[in-house]
Amino acid sequence: MLTIASGMSERAQRLANACESRDGAMPLDSEVGVGTARKGARQRLWAFATAVVRNRPRVRSFIDVARFLARSTGGDVGSCTLCGKTGRFLPMGSPPRPNAACSHCGGLERHRLFGLYLRQHPGFIARRLVLHFAPERPVAKAVREAGPELYRSADIEVGRADLQLSLEKIDLPDESVDVVIASHILEHVDDKLALTELRRILAPGGHAVIMVPIVEGWDSTYENSAVTTNAERTRHFGQRDHVRMYGRDLRERIAAAGLDLVEFTATAQECLAHGLLRGEKIFVSTKPA
Ligand SMILES: [Zn+2]
Repeated sequence: MLTIASGMSERAQRLANACESRDGAMPLDSEVGVGTARKGARQRLWAFATAVVRNRPRVRSFIDVARFLARSTGGDVGSCTLCGKTGRFLPMGSPPRPNAACSHCGGLERHRLFGLYLRQHPGFIARRLVLHFAPERPVAKAVREAGPELYRSADIEVGRADLQLSLEKIDLPDESVDVVIASHILEHVDDKLALTELRRILAPGGHAVIMVPIVEGWDSTYENSAVTTNAERTRHFGQRDHVRMYGRDLRERIAAAGLDLVEFTATAQECLAHGLLRGEKIFVSTKPA
């Protein structure tokens, strides 16, 4: 039962009630209008916190302040190859990597490396049929802006992309895609199945953009069937859902799937200008025409 607080018109109360009833917020009750003076410190703190969360403009202003502080105190200044803006790159990761994230679009080093590739290969996406696995937002935006004829994103989990697809068994016809983007996915899956599927869905002359964590000092990829828990996978492979750590033989695995390979690496000057990881590679794998 709604009680009209003193000093508040019935119309205002009705509107307040309607607002409160949205989004599962707590209902208005007879305590409204009493104010926070009678409430304890913990209740006042809770009321403030919930008000911040509910009041989106205020949340936005907090985010703006946080971004301003981040831009003022982050790492090196450089230009982002994805959003085109110049600013400081922020530390990110565990342990934190310096100059990791663009303070404007959030793009990470590997995303900006692909952005650099797109800049240097302007026809790579234009008028192509593009399938983007596990779409990273800043990359997806750059790819869409590069003018594909059709762009679809895909993810193993429902609701994260346009399509729910597994890279190990891609529910798409043979030779139906011109460009597949699969960045930091192969280390999560059965890569023999995945590479075979990539070759199958690519049109002749089509490209798979492959990026993975790789230890170039190792001849062979490290896999270990005795590693089964999240904690062990983190220790052995660097992340709880990784199932291997690639060595130089990634190239042989790509070749074994029947894909030709061209490797792309940024120059030292490009690494400095765009906050890129030195030596990081894009493995552009092409189905022979
Ligand atoms: Zn950016």
